[in-house]
Amino acid sequence: MAAQRPALFLDRDGVINVDHGFVASVDDWQWIDGARECVARFKARDWLVFVVTNQSGIAFDHYTEADMHAVHAHMIKGFSDAGTEVDAIYACPYHADGTNSRFRKDSFDRKPKPGMLLQAMAEFPVKRESSFLIGDKQTDIDAAHAAGVGGFLFSGGRLDDFAEWALASFEDGSR
Ligand SMILES: [Mg+2]
Repeated sequence: MAAQRPALFLDRDGVINVDHGFVASVDDWQWIDGARECVARFKARDWLVFVVTNQSGIAFDHYTEADMHAVHAHMIKGFSDAGTEVDAIYACPYHADGTNSRFRKDSFDRKPKPGMLLQAMAEFPVKRESSFLIGDKQTDIDAAHAAGVGGFLFSGGRLDDFAEWALASFEDGSR
């Protein structure tokens, strides 16, 4: 079995890119300062890095899964241009009140539930006790705690600086 490694879980909207309500296309994509550098730094440390994102805009027909994949291709290209990559992207298109019946369900993947994080842990050798999430909503933090990892609430500024602070305080055992 592969050696376990710590993982950084990143929410997408409001952490990697500016949250404009729904980010339906590449035109809506605006990088958060330091997001690509943050991923590069943690990958250079040999961490696993995952994106875990609720995308209920699909359940509400604001955009399609194909639109989301186009946005993710743009994000992946941005990471690649910065010389880095994430290990996987987990996205939850479901919502209990969705207008699109295909995506109307109370999903265990939708944060604050931990399904996406647990899936990452099932698919990659994650060292859970050394891992943490950065999100911009309490539901992100709740999902992290439900999955047994740390959680840090990002409220703006440079993501790379915030992540370094989070790592230092996590290693201190304060989260
Ligand atoms: Mg968010």
